Amino acid sequence: MALTITEEAYNSLLNQARNDAPIESCGYLLGPDEETVTQNYQMTNIDHSPEHFSFAPREQFEALNYARRNGLKIVGNWHSHPASPSRPSAEDIKLAHDPDIYYFILSLAEETPVFNAFKIQNGEVIDRINLR
Ligand SMILES: [Zn+2]
Repeated sequence: MALTITEEAYNSLLNQARNDAPIESCGYLLGPDEETVTQNYQMTNIDHSPEHFSFAPREQFEALNYARRNGLKIVGNWHSHPASPSRPSAEDIKLAHDPDIYYFILSLAEETPVFNAFKIQNGEVIDRINLR
């Protein structure tokens, strides 16, 4: 099975990231199975930083509840890089504790946005999938 994201979910996170720039934007990506994203669950970047992000624990809890209530899986989480490429920073890798989910990064550094998904295990990027 190949990782996919619907146009609607992608447009939702793209709009969110453009509205939040130059601050990094973030959220969860949900879907009916682990390889299909159909929804962007918007989250607040409580760091309000152009270079890193953190989720609000209360929102994380609400997102997980929302997914469970609606029978959706957490495919992964995403954040934007307003001015740098779509690849994990050293800090992104350090904070990637779940080997089973995808870490999506949207780069707005070039005129055409770039959207990649990464699998990260034991401090190493083991897979990269280009989605846009
Ligand atoms: Zn990052």
